[in-house]
Amino acid sequence: MRRRDFLGLTLTGSAWPSMAAFGAARRRRHGRLGRVVVVGAGYGGATAARYVRSLSAGRIEVILVDQNADFVSCPVSNRVLGGQKTLAQLTFGYDALRQKHGVRFLRGSVTAIDAERSQIVMAGQRLAYDRLVVAPGIDFIYDDFPMLAQAQQAIPHAWKAGPQTRNLQRQLMTMRDGGVFTIVVPAQPYRCPPAPYERACQVAFYLKTHKPRSKVVVLDANPVITSKRALFEQAWRDLYPGMIEYVPGSEPKEVDVATKTVRTAFDTVKSDVLNFIPPQRAGRIAQGGGLANVERRWCEVDFLTYASKVLPRVHVIGDAIDAGLPKSAHMANAQAKVCARAIVDAMLEQAPEPAPAFANTCYSYVDDRQAMHISTLYRYDPASQSMRAEGSGILSEHPSAQEGRDADAWARQIWGDVLG
Ligand code: FAD
Repeated sequence: MRRRDFLGLTLTGSAWPSMAAFGAARRRRHGRLGRVVVVGAGYGGATAARYVRSLSAGRIEVILVDQNADFVSCPVSNRVLGGQKTLAQLTFGYDALRQKHGVRFLRGSVTAIDAERSQIVMAGQRLAYDRLVVAPGIDFIYDDFPMLAQAQQAIPHAWKAGPQTRNLQRQLMTMRDGGVFTIVVPAQPYRCPPAPYERACQVAFYLKTHKPRSKVVVLDANPVITSKRALFEQAWRDLYPGMIEYVPGSEPKEVDVATKTVRTAFDTVKSDVLNFIPPQRAGRIAQGGGLANVERRWCEVDFLTYASKVLPRVHVIGDAIDAGLPKSAHMANAQAKVCARAIVDAMLEQAPEPAPAFANTCYSYVDDRQAMHISTLYRYDPASQSMRAEGSGILSEHPSAQEGRDADAWARQIWGDVLG
């Protein structure tokens, strides 16, 4: 962004109070309603930006800020390892949000939130907001293994789609036949519960085809597979007999970077490729300013509006919040719509929708064609003031090629919804 553009935006924002002269009632009916700034243009943030614009019929100025120029999808990124997708096929620009929906996109890293002044800070400059949406996704906790933070080239997490996904794919492709590919899964809560097990399937699919003497070891800090358990166990038995070794209750105690060796309470596993997925917390911007007030990891929000319980006129959505629900793209997209509606309502001085409900569907590919899914409906429960699952959800009976096609359709649909 050029400095002049930034200052222009900043001035528009700080000049906003003069609009008060129009009077609240007139503003409600006709005028511009103010400015919403959204930090993070991933699944949650980009959706919120789009829907604030459309639900306000363009009367709210929306500025969407991201440190990256493009949107790269984590959903489907495990298929890059399986060899069915390239990262380029999962990378999209923000042109439609800009051109069709009038969202202003700024590239930059937000370093602080100055809630007293209702401003965000980027590269020493400031941008004013009337409402702020914070959707930064996750950050990684390397406290127990600080050397791994420095060793991400050798031992990638690939838990944010991008260069690390490509790196992990390259390591898989150059691994010797007969080698060991280890996936270390953190204890819950982490981003996308079924994704580590889907990754095991995709890696095994690649190895079965290209290096059949190799092995996948899953060292899981959780006591059992955390999602679609029976389906994954069956898929591993049917499709990759003897190839995937699953070790539950395997919290890493020591890691030797040079030899890619992980020691747990019971095992020592030396790997050719080590995919260490660290424990997670809300993205860094949520840590400053105390937004992440739950165990200094996640952000507490009001589920009717996604307003932060810590900072006024700041909303938080997506993986960064403490919801006790699966952290998924589908969920971030659904929360963003509730949040967008509530922001528009608040700016029109109207009450929010009293009983929001939404579904979460999560597909996992087990090979190059077949997928399986779980779908759950969540409804606001006024007694606990939280989103509660209705029943145990709908689970596939078995993976199928039809569900593989459904999963493709799901991805295309959500990309269209998020990015306009
Ligand atoms: P993100 O989508 O990560 O967006 C956060 C954005 O904020 C990023 O663009 C980042 O650059 C930006 N940002 C962060 N900090 C700053 C800052 N300070 N300044 C500027 N910009 C900033 N979910 C599903 O529903 N279905 C699936 O099949 C599925 N598969 C997955 C597979 C894998 C391998 C993984 C890792 C995840 C998968 N997920 C899936 C989960 C899904 O990717 C996340 O739940 C979703 O991306 C969360 O959305 P978000 O908006 O909270 O964060």
